[in-house]
Amino acid sequence: MRPLFQTRLVNGTSGDPALYIDFEFRRRALLFDLGDITTLAPRHVLRLTDIFVSHAHMDHFIGFDRVLRLMLGRAKRLRLYGPPGFLDRVTHRVLGYTWNLVANYPVELVIEAAELESNGTVRRAAFRSRNRFERTELEPAAAREGVLLDEEDFRVRAVHLDHSIPCLGFALEEKAHLNVWKSRLDELGLPTGPWLNELKRLARRDAPDDTPMNIVWSDRDGEHREVRPLGMLRREILREVPGRTIAYVVDVAFHERNQRAITRLAHGADLFYVEAPFLNEASARAAATAHLTAGQAGRLARAAAVKRVIPFHFSPRHTGEEDRLEAQVQDAFADPVGTTVASPPVSYRGT
Ligand SMILES: [Zn+2]
Repeated sequence: MRPLFQTRLVNGTSGDPALYIDFEFRRRALLFDLGDITTLAPRHVLRLTDIFVSHAHMDHFIGFDRVLRLMLGRAKRLRLYGPPGFLDRVTHRVLGYTWNLVANYPVELVIEAAELESNGTVRRAAFRSRNRFERTELEPAAAREGVLLDEEDFRVRAVHLDHSIPCLGFALEEKAHLNVWKSRLDELGLPTGPWLNELKRLARRDAPDDTPMNIVWSDRDGEHREVRPLGMLRREILREVPGRTIAYVVDVAFHERNQRAITRLAHGADLFYVEAPFLNEASARAAATAHLTAGQAGRLARAAAVKRVIPFHFSPRHTGEEDRLEAQVQDAFADPVGTTVASPPVSYRGT
C-alpha cells in the first residue's frame, strides 16, 4: 500500500527545526516547526495547509515570512498552531508590514492561528488579506486529549512540555487503514463499487452496528438492491491495518514531568524525531538551557518503545561531532541499563 505521507527534515540534523510532512498524492503538506525554510521549494511551501510551531524562539518560527510571501496574492487558507502566547506572536509578525494594497487583491489569503492553553482550550484568531490582516477573534475550540487537527485518515495531537517557557510536542497519527477482503465480498454475493467507500467512511466514524447499508448495483440480470447492517459488513469484509505514528519533540528540559508527557506522546511511534543538541559530556549546558543531551534523547526513545529514533537539532557547538551525537542517542536507545525515565501513568493508545 502506498504511504499516506513522507517526512523529511528540511535542514537536516543541524539546521533550524522544520519537519516537512508531504501528502504527495493530495498535493498537501504539514510542517512541524517553522525554522528557516529557504531551501524548501516554492511549490512545496504552497502545499502547506497546517503548520505546528513548538514555541516561538526564533529558530522555530523565522520561516513564517517565506510562507506569507509565497502565499500572498493566492486563494489560500493557512492554519498555524502554537503554545500559549502564540496568537500575540503571530499578530506581531503579521502586523510588522504595511498592508494598504492587499484588500484589493482579487483572491483572499486567510491565516487562522490557534494557541493551545494548558486546560485544553484552543484560542483562535483569523487574519484576512481583504481585511488588511487585522486580527479577528474566532470562537474558542476544545482540544480533546490535545487533538488539534482531526481528519478522516489522520490526526495531530499536541502535548504541553516545559522548555523554561511553554513548548508543544506533536504526534501525527495515521488512522487504521481499512482494506476490503475481496474473497469475502464474493462469498457474500456482494459487488464492489462506491458503496465500499461509504462503508469505510461510516466504519471510521464508528457509526452504530445496526446502521443500514443500501447496496445497489446492476448487471445483465437487471438492478439489484440489498440492505445489510454496517456491523456485519465491517466484521466480514473489512480488515484493519494499523496506521503509522510520528512523534516530534524539541527543546525540552529533562525532568520527570516532561519525561512522562513525552513517553506518553511518543509511545510505540514508528518514527520519533527528537532533539539531541548536546553531547552527554555537555549535560550541564543542556540543563542550563532546558535542552536534552543525546543520551537523554535516546533514553526517552527507549522508554517510549518507539520503533526508530531520529535525532536532530544538533547544536552548532558540536559541529563536526554529528556522528558522536548520533551514536550516543542510539547507544542509550539500545541499552536497557540506566533507563530510569518516568513512564506514563496511563496510555490512550490502542483505544
Ligand atoms: Zn527554544
